[in-house]
Amino acid sequence: MPPLPYAPRVYDPRRIGYAAELAQGTDRFHEPRRADCPWCGSPRLRTRLSAPDLLQRKPGRFALDQCRDCGHAFQNPRLTPAGLAFYHRDFDESDPGALPDPVLAARRSHRRHRWDAHLMREVGEPESWLDVGTGHAHFPAAAREIFPYTSFDGLDPTPRVEAARAAGRIEEAHIGHLSDPRVAERLRGRYDVVSMFHHLSHAP
Ligand SMILES: [Zn+2]
Repeated sequence: MPPLPYAPRVYDPRRIGYAAELAQGTDRFHEPRRADCPWCGSPRLRTRLSAPDLLQRKPGRFALDQCRDCGHAFQNPRLTPAGLAFYHRDFDESDPGALPDPVLAARRSHRRHRWDAHLMREVGEPESWLDVGTGHAHFPAAAREIFPYTSFDGLDPTPRVEAARAAGRIEEAHIGHLSDPRVAERLRGRYDVVSMFHHLSHAP
């Protein structure tokens, strides 16, 4: 949402919304810190990184712990659903340095997706590929230039994925979340490759 042209920035409704949320403190954005590794259960954790929000400068501190036994690194404490919503709002991570010109921005985004697909050439020539959290299916559209014999499907919680199928960017559109057991059951074992871009960071 662009700033209102006639109002000083202090009246930006987003600012008022953030101030109201921050008045309740940021503690509710974090779960309790866990004392063991979520993969192997080892209690031997070390903090690898503790940092503020370097991209958006929203209040709060975030820590990455690493398990000394299995090497798994994870955010600890992790964000609650309210925290995920708060820290991802107003942040277009698909293109953080968005260009003002939509045509140029779309071209750059296409090049970036194409490069991501290029880096995945080592998977060979898969027959079937599911892009999770695909949105408008811009990644499959670009990846088809690198993998012309692959059939791309998309999964997304929003109807954008249906529009993407209608536009011919994917073959099949699935609406839902991968963490929904019914969706997982329907899609299990069907794909040679499953990709997720900017997806895990939105999921608990
Ligand atoms: Zn571990």
